Amino acid sequence: MAQTRTYVVLLGVPGAGKGTQAQLLQQATGLPQISTGDLFRYNLKHQTELGRLAKRYMDAGNLVPDQVTIQMVADRLEQPDCTRGALLDGFPRNLLQAAALERLVAPYGGVASAPLIQVEDEETIRRITGRRTCRLCGAVYHLTFNPPRSPARCDNDGGELYQRDDDHEETVRNRLFVYYKQTAPLIGYYFAKGLLHEIDGARSIEEVQQELLALVKQP
Ligand code: ADP
Ligand code: AMP
Ligand code: ZN
Repeated sequence: MAQTRTYVVLLGVPGAGKGTQAQLLQQATGLPQISTGDLFRYNLKHQTELGRLAKRYMDAGNLVPDQVTIQMVADRLEQPDCTRGALLDGFPRNLLQAAALERLVAPYGGVASAPLIQVEDEETIRRITGRRTCRLCGAVYHLTFNPPRSPARCDNDGGELYQRDDDHEETVRNRLFVYYKQTAPLIGYYFAKGLLHEIDGARSIEEVQQELLALVKQP
């Protein structure tokens, strides 16, 4: 077997804080954040074929078809920055994707842990509707819970902060529905493998980060 790598699967409803935590964990551990949502948005912005295909699913809050999503992740995991592992944010999103990930990472010791960031639905809607994202670096803010130092500008690079097209309330409700129908079964899947770690996501960003960091350093 090849040398073991650290693959962490971040689970949680849309808006639970996966991206926020993954960005902080990336800074703390050097493991790259792989966000399938960010990869699709990058493709959308650069008007690639993949971006055009993904758009209609994303606009409706539905999942992009498995085949293209899995291929995109397989390609990303082969990049040189992933030789120690990766922080998976938003992937897998159903059981088929989980089985595909298992095959991809099996040669490196498999998935190391699957932390589940738990947040109530109403809180998740408050978090998503107040979310603002930097156009330049993808940093995530919240208008009241995690505001930037100057209004509408990113602390890192002054980039414009925008509201994602799919962060409006009707789309958010469908995304939650899709989560419960298709993604929630992953909780049982990782529990059965002894990899699930439930984390109380209702606390501050810093408190959640401390718990996750301890877990990732010692899965
Ligand atoms: P996800 O990647 O799971 O969809 P995000 O990391 O984008 O979620 O977080 C959703 C929103 O909630 C963002 O606006 C973020 O700033 C905010 N947020 C994240 N974690 C917390 C927290 N612990 N407390 C309050 N707000 C948070
Ligand atoms: P996110 O940034 O994780 O909230 O994802 C935004 C949107 O991208 C989702 O609503 C889906 O349309 C699409 N998407 C992200 N990750 C996946 C995935 N693993 N499988 C299918 N679609 C995805
Ligand atoms: Zn920025």
